[in-house]
Amino acid sequence: MTVRQAALAAAKQYFDSGAFQSDLAGLVARPTESQDPRGKPHLMSYLTEAMQPLLQDLGFDTQIHDNPVPGGGPILTAARIEGASLPTVLCYGHGDVVRGQEEQWRAGLDPFTLTQDGDRLYGRGTADNKSQHLINLQAMAALIAAQDALCFNAKIVIEMGEEVGSTGLKAFCETHAGALRADVLIASDGPRLSADVPTVFTGSRGGIGFDLRVDLREGAHHSGNFGGLLADPAIILAHALASITDARGQIQVPQWRPDSLTPRIRDVLAALPPIQAGVPLDPDWGEDSLSMAERVFGWNSFAVLAMVSGVPDAPVNAISGWARASCQLRYVVGTDVADILPALRRHLDAHGFGTVQIVPTQTAGFPATRLDPDHPWVTFAANSLQQTTGCAPHLLPNLGGSLPNDCFADVLALPTIWIPHSYAGCNQHAPNEHILLPLARQALLGMTGLFADIAHLGASEAGNE
Ligand SMILES: [Zn+2]
Repeated sequence: MTVRQAALAAAKQYFDSGAFQSDLAGLVARPTESQDPRGKPHLMSYLTEAMQPLLQDLGFDTQIHDNPVPGGGPILTAARIEGASLPTVLCYGHGDVVRGQEEQWRAGLDPFTLTQDGDRLYGRGTADNKSQHLINLQAMAALIAAQDALCFNAKIVIEMGEEVGSTGLKAFCETHAGALRADVLIASDGPRLSADVPTVFTGSRGGIGFDLRVDLREGAHHSGNFGGLLADPAIILAHALASITDARGQIQVPQWRPDSLTPRIRDVLAALPPIQAGVPLDPDWGEDSLSMAERVFGWNSFAVLAMVSGVPDAPVNAISGWARASCQLRYVVGTDVADILPALRRHLDAHGFGTVQIVPTQTAGFPATRLDPDHPWVTFAANSLQQTTGCAPHLLPNLGGSLPNDCFADVLALPTIWIPHSYAGCNQHAPNEHILLPLARQALLGMTGLFADIAHLGASEAGNE
C-alpha cells in the first residue's frame, strides 16, 4: 500500500466511524458568535479547549495571540516543521460564526446542537467554517497516521473575527510575516459551484462602499410656492446615478471597466457549470456582451444598496433639501483601486454633477485578488483532487464575494489555493445552516490525497538535496 492509499484509508476510517461527526458536534456546541458580545468568552475557549489540544496531538507547536486591534478576537498560530528543505503549506480557517438566530431555525433544530437529518448535518458553523478547517486538519491527521510524518511543513492560522471583517488579520500578517512564511496557502471557506464536484478558486472580488449625497439647502420648501424655482436633489441624484450605469446596469465610468477579462480567463469561466443562485437570474441585466459567469466572476458591478430623500413613509408637499444613496462597487483585479473614487469624481464633474458629493463609508470590504489559473499550484491541486475524487474540479479565478485573501496573496505574497467544502444551498449566514455528509466525506478524501501528494513532492525535493 502506498502512503497515499494508507492515508486515504485512515481518512475513510475516521469519517465512517462517526468520529468526524462527533468532533464537529463538539465544535458546533461552542457558540462562537463574533457579532454578539455573548460570544466573546467562547472565542478564546474555542482556541484553547478545541483547537490547541487537537493541534498539539498532531505534533504542532501552538501559540495564541491577542488581536492587534483592541476588541478584536484572538488569533491562533500553529506550526509543525519537519525540515528546512521541505515545502511549507499555510492553512487558514475561522472559528467564529455569525449570530445563531435560534428563534428562526426549523422546529427540532438548534444552532448549537449538531443534528443529523438524512444526509445533512445541521448547526451554526457547520458550513462556515468549522467543518472546513476540521476536514483540513483531519486530512493532515490521516497522513500522519499513515507515515508518522507529514513530509512537509505545515503552518496554521485560525482567526476568531472573520464574520466581523477579519479585524486585525492584515496587521497580524504584516507583523508575523516571517513566522508565517510559506510556499502556498491552502485554505477552505465558502461554497463549491456544484455539490458533487470539487471547486478550486484562487481569489475574490473586492468591494468599496461610498455614499452619494446631494445637500442643497437647509430644510424642505413648499412644492407649490417653490416648484420650478428650487433644484430638486432627488432628481439630480437620480440623473447622477443614471450616468454611472445605463438602464441595464452596464458601467459607464471608463476606469471602472476592468482590463483583466482576458481570453484565458474567459475560457476558464466558460468551463464552469451554470450558476446555481436559488433565485431566478436576470439575463437582460449587466454587461450585455458577457456570459452570466463573466458578469459575476470576471467583471465589476455597481449597486445602489439604499437611497432616500425626504421622508418616504410620510411625504409632505415640499421639495427636499437633500438626497442620499449608499452605493457599492464590487471589483475584480485589473481595477485601479486608488483611482475608483477619483475616477467617479471626474466622471460626475464631466457630466455636470459637481453638486453630488462622494463620501467614502466604512463598509470597504477586502481588496480583489486572483492567481493565474495556470499557476503550477493550481494545476497541482486540481490534478490531485481529480485523482482522488474522479472528477475534474471546477476552476474559478475568484469568488464573486469577498474573503480576507489579500492577507495571504498581497501581505504574505503566497499563491492562494482555496478548496471550499460547502455548497450553495448550505444556508450559511441564515437559519438551518448545514453541510452534506457525502460532500464532507469527498472533501476529506480530496484534502488527504492533496496533502499526501504534497508529501510526495516534499520527499522528492528532500531527495534531490
Ligand atoms: Zn461567513
